[in-house]
Amino acid sequence: MEGKKFNRETESEKEVPAEALATARHELGEHNGINMSIEASNTFTFKDSETMNRAFQGEVGPKTGIYIYSRHLNPTVLNLGRQIAAIEGTETGYCTASGMSAISSVLLHLCNSGGHVVAAKSLYGGSHALLTHFLQQKCNITTTFVDIVDLEEVENAMIEGKTSVLYFESISNPTLNVANIPELSKIAHAKGVKVVVDNTFAPMILSPAKLGADVVVHSISKYMSGEADIIAGAICGPAEIVDQMRDPHEGPLMVLGPTMNPKLAFEISGRIPHLSMRMKKHCKRAMKFVTKIKELDPNLVVLYPGLEEHPQHSLLKSMSNKDYGFGGVFCVDMKTEERANRLMDKLQNNSKFGFMGVSLGYYETLMTCSSSSTNSMLDDKEKERAGISPGLIRFSVGYVGTFEQKWSQFTRAYSEM
Ligand code: PLP
Repeated sequence: MEGKKFNRETESEKEVPAEALATARHELGEHNGINMSIEASNTFTFKDSETMNRAFQGEVGPKTGIYIYSRHLNPTVLNLGRQIAAIEGTETGYCTASGMSAISSVLLHLCNSGGHVVAAKSLYGGSHALLTHFLQQKCNITTTFVDIVDLEEVENAMIEGKTSVLYFESISNPTLNVANIPELSKIAHAKGVKVVVDNTFAPMILSPAKLGADVVVHSISKYMSGEADIIAGAICGPAEIVDQMRDPHEGPLMVLGPTMNPKLAFEISGRIPHLSMRMKKHCKRAMKFVTKIKELDPNLVVLYPGLEEHPQHSLLKSMSNKDYGFGGVFCVDMKTEERANRLMDKLQNNSKFGFMGVSLGYYETLMTCSSSSTNSMLDDKEKERAGISPGLIRFSVGYVGTFEQKWSQFTRAYSEM
């Protein structure tokens, strides 16, 4: 493959994500349309057979406008990858059919059979299941789960010559622990371990690669898409890693085929420019709700990194990009599953506050009891270790309607408990 194939198009390390997105190269359509054309071809032709051969040897490629096959690389998908890489401040990026396919492709690329991962014990249930069962049973890749806020535990879990990846979420799903990305990266790099961060909960808010991470993955299905209508993912990182992942002969993007459809890539690329505005709205609403809920019932356990009492409040403040806040997700602990379900039923069916649903990043509020839904694949001991109590409701705060209207819907339902 070409060396640094896609020069980073962002101007400087100091650019905040919204500025970087604005200065990233914008591809015009083939007739100078202000939007890029959709490259809806699964295969591409070459000017001669020599160029075709050179493309397969990686001697020519997208930099010179040469593509092979869309499972390998598609210009429209690459365009979206560049937008997301600009936001994340990485050299390059590529997009996949789901967040899970981004995560599994990266882990399979960075780990060999017999290898070892150190991962946060509080993770999205699907990622936890991938590490606990699939990678172990099918690929002989084992994982040690750690408390990601305990730096000593993380360091001690790394096995020299065996551990190749430290994997965690910037803000964890659903417990909202905030990872100390700079310190974790230092610890991992000192042991030759790559740091892979799932930044699904904090796009725009945190830039893990600028804080030291090697690879950043996303479930675009959440905030990036913003409409709860799409399943998609992204991988951002140095060209050295992402290009290897796209190796036309052996790269996981080629042989596993987690391909994104270019028509979908085009659609998502139109939503990225307003991600910044949407994130600000989600964060502001979440902070307002949490503040009012704490006033309403000071005894209720509320998890939100925007609260000063949150153990990583200052850490998040010190790492985050200016003007975004602390995320659009908060949790309340209703103690039992029965009480959590009762409150969600009232919030959805009596007061129309939001919807029960497992996703997040939607413009309406979505709520889920994580223990019995997204994290139900964990056994009781694993849930306890991860801090997922049976009555924990995760709220992904929407921004439609006025705050006053939504607050009155919340209080109406809560007063009936
Ligand atoms: N990462 C996190 C933090 C998630 O919450 C999810 C899904 O809920 C995923 C990854 C998986 O993403 P997808 O559903 O797009 O495969």
